[in-house]
Amino acid sequence: MKAYITRFAPSPTGYLHLGSARTALINYIISSQNSYSKFFLRIEDTDKLRSKEKYKRNIIEGLKWLGIQWESEIQIQSKRIDRHIEIANKLLKDKFAYKCNCSIEKLNKKREEIKNKKLKIKKVCTTCKNNQKIQTLNSNYVIRIKIPEIGSTTIKDNVQGKITINNQEIDDYILIREDGSPTYMLSVVVDDHDLNVNYIIRGDDHLNNTFRQLFIYKYLNWNIPEYSHLSLIYGEDGSKLSKRHGAVNILELKQKGYLREAIINNLILLGWSPNPNGNEIISIKEIVEKFDIKEISKSSSIFNYKKLNFFNNYYLRIPSNKKIFEDFCKTNNIMKKYYIKDKVKLLKIFEVYKKNLSSFDEIIDFIDVYYNKNYTYSTNQKFDKIFDNYFYDFVAKLNLLNDWNTEKIEKVIKNFIIEKKIKFVTLGKPIRFILINSINGPSISEIFTILGKKVSIERLNQYIIE
Ligand code: GLU
Repeated sequence: MKAYITRFAPSPTGYLHLGSARTALINYIISSQNSYSKFFLRIEDTDKLRSKEKYKRNIIEGLKWLGIQWESEIQIQSKRIDRHIEIANKLLKDKFAYKCNCSIEKLNKKREEIKNKKLKIKKVCTTCKNNQKIQTLNSNYVIRIKIPEIGSTTIKDNVQGKITINNQEIDDYILIREDGSPTYMLSVVVDDHDLNVNYIIRGDDHLNNTFRQLFIYKYLNWNIPEYSHLSLIYGEDGSKLSKRHGAVNILELKQKGYLREAIINNLILLGWSPNPNGNEIISIKEIVEKFDIKEISKSSSIFNYKKLNFFNNYYLRIPSNKKIFEDFCKTNNIMKKYYIKDKVKLLKIFEVYKKNLSSFDEIIDFIDVYYNKNYTYSTNQKFDKIFDNYFYDFVAKLNLLNDWNTEKIEKVIKNFIIEKKIKFVTLGKPIRFILINSINGPSISEIFTILGKKVSIERLNQYIIE
């Protein structure tokens, strides 16, 4: 396999979300498939208005949490502006670029015309490049790349296949703005080239940019990288995955108590299915062994939270992940209090509830009743009268039990219902309600175990037979 140099190049203009995490993950996986490959992280912060430090921190922290590791220090695009300008000037000198001083009004007029006449062309400035006077200007100009008006350009993409477009459909985009700052279109190519990136894997929203960027490589005689443009992911309603569908920010998912393994497992199966036998659980190690980008679907994938919950439930039940639950409790503002009060009880509750949890934070809805020292059961719930015939006897039996654990308690219950020839629900439902004010929930023996003998008996004693 080839030694690939890949990179993830987010602009810090938003949080690390599921879609960009998938791009980062796939870059990381490809570069982990052999020891010669490398993966870089570059923060593309040249858009000064929209780039924010908080987003940069979020992206870095989110990637680290996912376990995505990059080579050497993080590349910061804004630190390399001089180099970008140097390249623009070289393109200008070699006549692959030109100065343009068209006014916004003039350009907009041209855009209008192109739109109204439904023309296929994209070039809005057609005169400046041949105007000698403009080419000698010292200020008040932008630098545009010169894209041929004839011919076509082809990309062989590992995911999208072979795509060709006419050069007249590619605009003479700006390389250097009027204030002297380089644009993303220029910086990304220069930085990728200087880092020796030979494989660019990114969202297919960049496909158009690739046709445009290829000209910089060609004009400078630089090696053109391999490309994979990943289809974007959508929500179940078919619109682009966003906050409207649920949490999309990776660190927010972490805070809700999602595990990285679940997120990775879910993301990698969007458009790719490694196991013909239908087993969907796959570890990062196995993904690295099996992943082949050419097998990934080029149609867009739907992100489904039910699926994420399924994976998360699977991973949070794994015994060795109990420690992650503890970490979650230590950092979650609500859970912290319960953790400090009684850690052992908290872990017992987790053991009982985990089979039904989609994420750790769901436990918050059930927890308080187990800690409430002033617990009272809600007397307006009426039980079948037959329950009263057995209640005191049952409490007396329980009181005799000294070895208070789920197994022993279960035995007491079982013997009791056999002896009295009653159905389990006759006893179980009312008892559960008396203990936790809910008809549904874990088995009563599990509830007894969580509460401990003393509290259990105290709560049962709240019930008064009328
Ligand atoms: N900075 C670009 C973005 O966040 C990505 C650039 C690239 O991957 O080429 O959309």
